[in-house]
Amino acid sequence: MSANILDKKESFIAQMKEILIDTKKVSHAYLIETNSFPNSEELVFTFAKMLLCPSYFEDMHTTDCVICHQISENSYADLKVIRPEGDWIKKEQMLSLQEAFKTKSIIGGRRCYIIFEAEKLNASSANTLLKFLEEPADQIVAILVTANRYQILDTILSRCQVYSLSTGESNLPINFEQQKDCYDFLNLLYQKGSQIIAVVSKLEVFSQNNKREYQEFLRKLEEIYDDLLIHLSDDAFLENKYGKVLTQVLPKLSYDDIIEKLKAIEECKQKLKFNVNLKLWLDNFIIQLSKG
Ligand SMILES: [Zn+2]
Repeated sequence: MSANILDKKESFIAQMKEILIDTKKVSHAYLIETNSFPNSEELVFTFAKMLLCPSYFEDMHTTDCVICHQISENSYADLKVIRPEGDWIKKEQMLSLQEAFKTKSIIGGRRCYIIFEAEKLNASSANTLLKFLEEPADQIVAILVTANRYQILDTILSRCQVYSLSTGESNLPINFEQQKDCYDFLNLLYQKGSQIIAVVSKLEVFSQNNKREYQEFLRKLEEIYDDLLIHLSDDAFLENKYGKVLTQVLPKLSYDDIIEKLKAIEECKQKLKFNVNLKLWLDNFIIQLSKG
């Protein structure tokens, strides 16, 4: 699963501009993964303005633009914004969204809807949205927004063009790139538990069936859990070494939790020394790690 990584507001805007200038490149659905990007909501609305305001890219366009102003205020008729109601985005919300787009636009031109916290679509609202996405109508563009794309149902994800905002090096731990596969894995693990068997092969580290990569991955994962154990109550240390990434990914783990994980990692490491079927090994590894 790849995404375009954009580490600056300017690079996001530049890339979106490139897509939108050539209308043939405009997709029917975008997923914007915000991570912990500052002011990401503002960027999403900027993207909506680029999509909807016919003069956005013209030289005479100014900050006084009426359409852009309406978009910011969420009073533009051809833009619908959906947010969770309570814990979930409800099926009724998706139905009334569809209903709203059934009638012809009064303004004409492109129309757009934004779904914030798209991970909060439940089974039935996701299904309704999916049907909507499967029959893309001309000129309607969906923007789904989530903090983490792994929380989005595969069926929805596969229909979206994914853009991932990244906070860039300054806010990330120094070794972020080397450990990114561990964070992605832990994130999945704590979101989906053993269900991640179905999606784990999409992580780059597991996509190649390469034993050495698995071993290297285990080594890094062990190092993270070791640190968690040794510095269990030293948040400052952990934050210094791992940034806020770990605390965002992990629930508060107890001493016993961590010991269990380390045992499971060690066991799986031993097994990997033998001539094992890597697919079976991976399934077993997930089951071991998602216990408890
Ligand atoms: Zn405008």
